[in-house]
Amino acid sequence: AKEQGRNQFCFYTQDMTAEARTKLDLESALSRAIERDELLLHYQPQVDGSSGTITGAEALLRWQRSGSGLVAPGQFIPLAERSSLILDIGAWVIDAACRQLRAWMDDGLPIVRVAVNVAARQFAAGDLDQVVARALQRHRIDPQWLEIEITEGMLIVEPGAAIAMLKRIKALGVKLSLDDFGTGYSSLAYLQQFPIDSLKIDQSFTRRIGEQPDGGALVDAVIALAHRLNLRVVAEGVETAQQSDYLRERGCDEMQGYHFGRPAPAETLQQSLAAQGEP
Ligand code: C2E
Ligand code: CA
Ligand code: CA
Ligand code: CA
Repeated sequence: AKEQGRNQFCFYTQDMTAEARTKLDLESALSRAIERDELLLHYQPQVDGSSGTITGAEALLRWQRSGSGLVAPGQFIPLAERSSLILDIGAWVIDAACRQLRAWMDDGLPIVRVAVNVAARQFAAGDLDQVVARALQRHRIDPQWLEIEITEGMLIVEPGAAIAMLKRIKALGVKLSLDDFGTGYSSLAYLQQFPIDSLKIDQSFTRRIGEQPDGGALVDAVIALAHRLNLRVVAEGVETAQQSDYLRERGCDEMQGYHFGRPAPAETLQQSLAAQGEP
């Protein structure tokens, strides 16, 4: 048993080493992803609740890692967040979204508001407003076309500093949206203190519609609360016609989810926009 125990121990350490090596590889590959031009944005349409017209798009980060397929953000953002790498990646995302808007405008194509995600560490760094301002300036983008998605967790650590930062971003003319609403450390009091324009109902709440009796109860309450505070409501993760119908009836302002379109390359969004522009 002792022999076997030792073998198991050896096996275990080898295993850990392999795992650690994989992580190190991932990290060093990721640190070169920007210079190697391996990052890209996919865009998912956001549609008007009543008309179904595309009114915006969320930019979602993808990594075309050499030798691998397309890597989803869940597989590398948490790693990037552990170092200052997230600051470079985050700045790249904001710049890339503005660059895309500029390319569409230069081609005379219709454009919609683009929402980008920011990481907690990126928000806490204290210069996000400057990063945003630089990107807008570099690509000559009217700030109203850009939206920044933040999450509740970013606001609770240092509420005072967070409010100051949000105000500086708002002062640029950029829109602010509270992502994943209801999943975090929701403090309803904060909703009134933070200068946000919209709330995104998390997909875990959308999913309950039609799934259980009273499945829409939380969604109903969030829509009512948001409207009472003059906030726009966006429902995320809308996958079925039933969910879409329900949300429309309840006056949800915008919807986003596979039912309307998956995240896809910029060209796909552009085609959808061109198609809806036709009489
Ligand atoms: P998120 O901001 O909540 O983005 C929504 C996620 O839900 C996206 O996953 C999207 O592809 C997925 N989704 C959209 N519609 C549906 C649907 O109808 N059903 C289901 N089941 N899922 C849907 P994705 O692209 O894998 O992104 C995951 C998360 O990674 C994002 O969650 C966001 O927190 C983070 N992320 C993405 N891009 C960036 C970025 O540029 N910077 C930072 N810091 N984080 C990012
Ligand atoms: Ca988001
Ligand atoms: Ca979300
Ligand atoms: Ca999320």
